[in-house]
Amino acid sequence: MGIFGIFRNKEKEIEQEQKLEASLEKTKTSFFSKITKALVGKSTVDDSFLDELEEILLSSDVGIETTVKIIDRLEKRVSREKYFNTDEVIGILKEEIIKMLSEHEGTMDVSFDFPENIKPYIIMVVGVNGVGKTTTIGKLAYQFRLMEKEVFVGAGDTFRAAAVDQLKIWGERAGVQVISRGMGSDPASVAYDTVKSAVTKNADVVILDTAGRLHNKINLMAELEKVDRVIKKVVPDAPHETVLILDASTGQNAIEQARQFIKATKVNTLAITKLDGTAKGGVILGIVDQFKIPVKYIGVGEKIEDLQLFDKRKFVESLFKTS
Ligand code: GDP
Ligand code: GDP
Ligand code: MG
Repeated sequence: MGIFGIFRNKEKEIEQEQKLEASLEKTKTSFFSKITKALVGKSTVDDSFLDELEEILLSSDVGIETTVKIIDRLEKRVSREKYFNTDEVIGILKEEIIKMLSEHEGTMDVSFDFPENIKPYIIMVVGVNGVGKTTTIGKLAYQFRLMEKEVFVGAGDTFRAAAVDQLKIWGERAGVQVISRGMGSDPASVAYDTVKSAVTKNADVVILDTAGRLHNKINLMAELEKVDRVIKKVVPDAPHETVLILDASTGQNAIEQARQFIKATKVNTLAITKLDGTAKGGVILGIVDQFKIPVKYIGVGEKIEDLQLFDKRKFVESLFKTS
């Protein structure tokens, strides 16, 4: 890469960090600034500070188990009687959260790339209605196009009238092919056609959209299982990635959805959407801590470029950054 390429990459990285920080604004207000306020006038880590910290973490949707873990770790690091300054406590808290999040490091690289020897690389996208599956697929397809990959998208949400059209619009924006058979058709059959076409055309990536009707859970899980079974007829080790999409703004509900989907399907990657505009972004700390499945993607807005790879350190740094 030439010197200008390096500059351009650096510029892009800074842009992305700024976007992440901006999208975490509301979570930060309910998190960092409250922690700083709780520390005002204190010179030791006392019970009242720890109580307040617990309340702040819970109200940011970090979840009870992870909150208890964070507080335990802080308590172990700072002895009660010792004097400290605010920066020190914040620094320790930040370090301990990053350490906790790094403990069960997944196998996923922080990269949009995938192994070159897998072709087509098949991604199945699952999650309940409205969490951002179709949007995330559009954003992902766009990232792959930037990498000059040939992408096939399968319109497997055949249950809702507008779903196929919505996916086609995203396909046009991203400049990728969308395979569809219209509303009411068998999602497994759409998946089969998509994978088959991708193999025939020697495409690089397949992304499969799915339905997310939660009121009929058993049928949904059976449908996802069928899609899984049918695509294996074409590519035996598919899907290579099963991404569960969770909406950060639903807070603890997202954790509950994760629990159910992980039980019923072979999810191996998580994507957390709508981190922008919610104060519940802390939920991501609970999700990373509680599930042994790596969060790979985060949604930070509604536009096609608003998908980022999840970088734990950058995330925590942004959460604690004073602007
Ligand atoms: P699906 O039902 O799971 O396919 O969800 P959609 O992709 O249709 O998204 C539902 C709504 O969430 C749409 O209005 C999207 O624009 C919105 N959305 C998806 N991802 C994000 C995100 O990262 N940030 C914001 N602000 N909105 C998002
Ligand atoms: P079925 O709906 O009970 O027949 O379930 P299957 O598991 O056999 O397949 C589901 C769908 O995937 C079918 O309706 C087909 O559209 C598609 N499919 C599966 N296997 C094949 C195949 O070998 N050839 C073709 N063309 N389509 C297949
Ligand atoms: Mg959809």
